[in-house]
Amino acid sequence: MIVRLNGIGYDSNSYLIIDKLSILVDPGTSSNFENLRQEISKYTSKIDYIINTHCHYDHTGSDYLFEEAYNAPVIIGSKDLPHLKNADNVTVSRLFGVDMIPPKNILVINEVEEQLKEANIEYIETPGHTEGGLSLVYKDNLITGDTLFAYGVGRHDLPTGNIAELRDSINSLERVAYSKKIVNILPGHGETGDMSAFANATMFI
Ligand SMILES: [Zn+2]
Repeated sequence: MIVRLNGIGYDSNSYLIIDKLSILVDPGTSSNFENLRQEISKYTSKIDYIINTHCHYDHTGSDYLFEEAYNAPVIIGSKDLPHLKNADNVTVSRLFGVDMIPPKNILVINEVEEQLKEANIEYIETPGHTEGGLSLVYKDNLITGDTLFAYGVGRHDLPTGNIAELRDSINSLERVAYSKKIVNILPGHGETGDMSAFANATMFI
């Protein structure tokens, strides 16, 4: 099953996938840690992996706290890994006025691809919002991070963002969404969308 845990304030939405593995996607900032942990405890006492759709602080700020609380490694796309590891300017933590604490144990998603497949999770590399952006397929759900929202698309003007890549990523997501018969678009911010998100996106790119 998949559970949507709403972001508070500027925090990203978080998603909890409970299958052969328990996966927390985009835990958000540290200000939401206690609250999110309580929510998670209603569904599971273990988290195997924390997956970040990309390195931005509003999605990854509490990685280090959840890493410690659940003894779970953090997973991210290969090109966003060095930015998260070094908490550099690509994480945009300065936009939020904080010094970011990075998690300690970070893996590139292709290292655990087979394990994720056994838990019905596949990933798609979707650069454009950041260079290492990821989207995730779980059954008829597509987790899109800040690549695609219900009624818009992510910014492409932040460090390593690129509008041409964003457009290509949304086009490849659309192809995947049709072939996997996706019903729900689960974005990093705002409400859950459906396949109309792709038509809406054409107004912005
Ligand atoms: Zn972002």
